[in-house]
Amino acid sequence: SAASQLAALDASKLSITKTTTPKELTPPKDLVFGKTFTDHMLTVEWTAADGWHSPQIVPYQNLSLDPSTCVFHYAFECFEGMKAYKDKNGGIRLFRPNKNMERLNKSSARIALPTFDGEALTKLIGEFVKLDDRFIPDARGYSLYLRPTMIGTQKTLGVGPPGSALLFVIASPVGPYYPTGFKAISLEATDYAVRAWPGGVGDKKLGANYAPCILPQLEAASRGFQQNLWLFGEEEYVTEVGTMNLFIAIKNKETGKNELITAPLDGTILEGVTRDSVLALARERLAPKGWEISERKIRMADVAQAAEEGRLIEVFGAGTAAIVSPVRSISYRGKLVDCGLKKDEEAGEIALQMKNWIEGIQYGDEPHAWRTSG
Ligand code: PMP
Repeated sequence: SAASQLAALDASKLSITKTTTPKELTPPKDLVFGKTFTDHMLTVEWTAADGWHSPQIVPYQNLSLDPSTCVFHYAFECFEGMKAYKDKNGGIRLFRPNKNMERLNKSSARIALPTFDGEALTKLIGEFVKLDDRFIPDARGYSLYLRPTMIGTQKTLGVGPPGSALLFVIASPVGPYYPTGFKAISLEATDYAVRAWPGGVGDKKLGANYAPCILPQLEAASRGFQQNLWLFGEEEYVTEVGTMNLFIAIKNKETGKNELITAPLDGTILEGVTRDSVLALARERLAPKGWEISERKIRMADVAQAAEEGRLIEVFGAGTAAIVSPVRSISYRGKLVDCGLKKDEEAGEIALQMKNWIEGIQYGDEPHAWRTSG
């Protein structure tokens, strides 16, 4: 068939044009998330007629797009967020890149953009990271945040599947999320707006999912909360936070056991790589100590009740940016739900353990299959 003659994404066709004006490095302590970028970018064009063109690494530069380009009008855009980490010997590795490739392919397919060979893109990202590795500070907590992005580039106001697309990857050096140690955050449970719904696209990483979330976040901020927590449905199920999945540790009333709970993958939450990693480590390392590990729905009212009855052990968010983010309290129906931290405590035991376990793997202290070269 015609489709099978389309070119696949081919890492061996990579061409590299190095910059002639290397940037000055930002002092590590001045790094702000997503503000500065490395010398180069990775780009690959796709056309419906030919498939994937030859990948290129070129100097970081502006894109030039016609004002009618479909990405500007109908939000043909999806993206990923992942990091490259430098170990103490200077070796650079990615963390579970196959998960990000899978997710980007699912996002892309959902908005009629092309899919690609994930292993090929991982390899290309590996080359890109190697070329710009001087931007990764040689210290624990620092990393290179990678932003693979796919956009529809067809010039048309017609609403239809884009006949051309651009896949690009840019990279931003980032510092530790908590430079002076954990800082527990407070959340506001949002009951007047909905982020995602069954059958929707909340489980895809589409740019269009993010812009509408800013206003509720500003609302929460205006009342002194760092993030808003998205509830779903009349039952007010706990789903996820701005850019993090949520974990809740309670003592289960029925079983009497400690239970670590996170929302199930029912289409209304993003399938976080950190979420998956926390679950796997919990099943491996906490379950043998008697913990029950659950992907299940939990109502916000049940979380509040557990807190009232002294059964709420701890709550934390999980995402690539911070790994884990401990939660001190959640504002819900005009009341503050205390999430179990002591006054002078910034993190619970599980959050602390998870951060250490995952960071230990990312920075190569613990050999693990999750840490891979491109
Ligand atoms: N939920 C949302 C809405 C997000 O944007 C993110 C960040 N990608 C996450 C959860 C956490 O996902 P991950 O662990 O893959 O970073």
